[in-house]
Amino acid sequence: MVATHCPYCALQCAMDVAPTPDGPTVTPLEFPTNRGRLCQKGWTAADVLTASGRLTAPMVRGADGTLAPVSWEEALDRVAGELRRLRAAHGPESVAVFGGGGLTNEKAYQLGKFARVALATPNIDYNGRFCMASAAAGGRRAFGLDRGLPFPLTDLDGAEAILLVGSNPAETMPPFVTHLAGAREAGGLVIIDPRRTPTADLTQDGGGLHLAPLPGTDLVLLLGITQILWAEGLVDRGYLAERASGVDALRASLAAWWPERVERVTGVPVVQQRAAARLLAAASPARGGRGGYVLTGRGAEQHAHGTDTVTAAVNLALCLGLPGREGSGYGCLTGQGNGQGGREHGLKADQLPGYRSITDPDARAHVARVWGVDADSLPGAGPPAVAMLASLATPGGPRALLVHGANPVVSAPDVGPLTERLRALELLVVCDFVLSETAALADVVLPVAQWAEETGTMTNLEGRLLLRDEAVPPPEGVRTELWVWRELARRLDAPIDFSEDAAEVFAELARASSGGVAHYTGFSHERLRAGEALYWPCPEPGHPGTPRTFLDRFATPDGRAVLHPVDETPPDDLLDAEYPLYLVTGRVLQHYQSGAQTRRVAALNSVEPESYVELHPLLAQRLGVEAGERVGVHSRRGSCEAVARLTEGIRLDTVFMPFHYPGRGAVNRVTNPAVDPISGMPELKVATVRLERLVDA
Ligand code: SF4
Repeated sequence: MVATHCPYCALQCAMDVAPTPDGPTVTPLEFPTNRGRLCQKGWTAADVLTASGRLTAPMVRGADGTLAPVSWEEALDRVAGELRRLRAAHGPESVAVFGGGGLTNEKAYQLGKFARVALATPNIDYNGRFCMASAAAGGRRAFGLDRGLPFPLTDLDGAEAILLVGSNPAETMPPFVTHLAGAREAGGLVIIDPRRTPTADLTQDGGGLHLAPLPGTDLVLLLGITQILWAEGLVDRGYLAERASGVDALRASLAAWWPERVERVTGVPVVQQRAAARLLAAASPARGGRGGYVLTGRGAEQHAHGTDTVTAAVNLALCLGLPGREGSGYGCLTGQGNGQGGREHGLKADQLPGYRSITDPDARAHVARVWGVDADSLPGAGPPAVAMLASLATPGGPRALLVHGANPVVSAPDVGPLTERLRALELLVVCDFVLSETAALADVVLPVAQWAEETGTMTNLEGRLLLRDEAVPPPEGVRTELWVWRELARRLDAPIDFSEDAAEVFAELARASSGGVAHYTGFSHERLRAGEALYWPCPEPGHPGTPRTFLDRFATPDGRAVLHPVDETPPDDLLDAEYPLYLVTGRVLQHYQSGAQTRRVAALNSVEPESYVELHPLLAQRLGVEAGERVGVHSRRGSCEAVARLTEGIRLDTVFMPFHYPGRGAVNRVTNPAVDPISGMPELKVATVRLERLVDA
């Protein structure tokens, strides 16, 4: 039996994995984030290890257009040969790499190094760009540092009030809800979400308030609540004077957002805006409260103005005097299992390991020294994920793509054109453990180990490092991605060797992070195996790590948090007669991300087997749609189909679809690839659509 952590979300619930004659089993463990609980996905996590359709041999697409099993030698030789040919003919930029937020820290680090050293391409990014980039950008511009939660999750337990903007943890990470219990008991939960989700339901019976703004207007709602704090004298002025800059400019910028105007834009009644502001202010330590938190999720971020929305939430938290104070704070709820670590170790187009900017000469010199290469040989910044994927197979764009730990033909916005671009590539290589929808398009598919079959570390939503030791051996024929990169690097005559040993890679990663903001320097697999609770930064061996950042100062040059005035920006997609409804997307309890794993678990997929569209009964009546009927969902990009599900818990002008499904049911056939100009994050949370009853349904 091996103690490890769940393969899915950033809560990284602790569990034992035990091999038995009938296959591996999981048992929940006591751990601060999950307290001995697992959600349905966690309870069935062992089923993914034995999922039908598990790949155990590399596959190469033959002249007849089908994928056929080949030896590892043949598959790797084919990949390396094609990469060499493309590089010689079109330069290193002709190759691109796309990673995932579920890759371990070691793999995230090694993939960034492989791309920049073995492939010498600037074209690398990861799917965290779809789900965390705006929070990262918002956190950095306010605090100088992005750590999802800059405090242990258990700190939330003592809060009197918690504002949750655009997050539905009751479905996405159910054990998290235990940490909301204290605030709920105090009547202090404030949920901002256009839908009455299971999380919003927690506000019923005196638990707090649910504010349901028009999709895309949560930024304005946050401005309005902050304006009320100023108008009613509820701001923590002492805190702002001591710990923040930009106060006057922020205050001036809020003046235009009086409550009635905010109501007109968002649809949230003035009385609810005032109640939320007062409830949050009453919890603030400055007013004798027990403490409060502002937390944001994908609902705030996945907008063409997501960084500004996060900034508005941070500004609100600062005006309440919460960040950098024990028992209070601002945080972002990371979604993917290693969404946090993925963005620290060089998977992003603009960053080197240790959260270093790839354009900073000192950072380049430091990382090049650790890697044993010449700093001048390192490529510069590449385009962020959406732009990179849009450039594939275009004139001058990449002609080859390597995909690791991602399934973009389901999870990316506007997947119709993307699928065509992937088909048009000269080489598509996918490393996966099942034939995902993206792998099914590949020229070469490489079968790799998954979570419990290899050793590696994850960084959870608290910035806490966790070790996942190998608990069961991978099936025969399967290799780790670290091994794959080592073998490919050799075949490409890379100037350095690539280790396949996770502990060795981690030790190098720790050295590379040294001196950066995300110090892993004092961490090691051994310390984790010894049971230490380790939060970064940990700048030297023996350092205990940092459960709470910002207590003394923020990571800005003068130690003060920066209040950035932000203003309303409408969604990129606007309503009109042809597309008269808003579409929001999200997740359901039983599935995770693109569903590549959870759709293969019978116990999960039997509950939620197909795509659905949630709409209000009155809207359904107007459209002549009945519950259970199939409807077409059309946008300016394309169309998809789903089964109608009726609920009064959604606005009349809004419909909802989960994004876990492929093919005709893929909501990302209609979503908008417009991106936030700062973070590069796509506007997955709001598109305008038309619904039509399918006559043959
Ligand atoms: Fe925990 Fe998330 Fe796994 Fe569910 S999916 S068991 S909440 S880590």
